[in-house]
Amino acid sequence: MQVTAMTSKPRVLIVEDEDAQAEVLRYNFDREGFEVAVAVDGEEAMLAVEEQQPDLILLDWMLPGTSGITVCQRLRSRPETRAVPIIMLTARGEEGDRVRGLESGADDYVVKPFLPSELVARVRAVLRRTRPSLSEERLVCGEIVMDLATHRVSRGGKHVHLGPIEFRLLRLFMERPYRVFTREQLLDKVWGRDIHVELRTVDVHIRRLRKALGAHGDEDVIRTVRGTGYALDVDNGGG
Ligand code: CA
Repeated sequence: MQVTAMTSKPRVLIVEDEDAQAEVLRYNFDREGFEVAVAVDGEEAMLAVEEQQPDLILLDWMLPGTSGITVCQRLRSRPETRAVPIIMLTARGEEGDRVRGLESGADDYVVKPFLPSELVARVRAVLRRTRPSLSEERLVCGEIVMDLATHRVSRGGKHVHLGPIEFRLLRLFMERPYRVFTREQLLDKVWGRDIHVELRTVDVHIRRLRKALGAHGDEDVIRTVRGTGYALDVDNGGG
């Protein structure tokens, strides 16, 4: 079986002093397949950049001590960090700050409050522009192909129509073929840990996913592991 994913996980450094905000971002970027590090102030950020060499930095404007803009300027002034893309996180209404942020070398800015999904999309867009090698956005398992940018899925060249939940389930399976996911893990990763969903809802969506993938009479590739969960097996008949 051929499995093509992002060649390596893109590394994102989140520089944010507010714990709750940092956690929300960490959770969302982790779920979207990023390797995530968090720094709580400018000094820590400079160290983290050196040690981890992130592919992109999310930089909060308002930081204790060294401000986000100073961090941005420092990063831009050093040859080894000059090219690292930076997205500034600014508070609403700070129009002047926004301009100064871009002048100081930020690649983009996002105004708080924002939806994590919106920020993830902006990060992907900046990475596509600045690091094309990281924007391999196709997953291939056997004859199933998933385009992560357009959300189109095909099997054996034929379009597979999936609802949003089924798409996310299949994506998770395709990123880790053969791995057995418990229903609890699927709930956590696909629905999110804050949403109350019954375990049997997972079964309902797995059934839909199976039906969609088998719409052209193809063999069942979702394996049920009794009492445990589900896995994607591309090579056998499942069951
Ligand atoms: Ca802050």
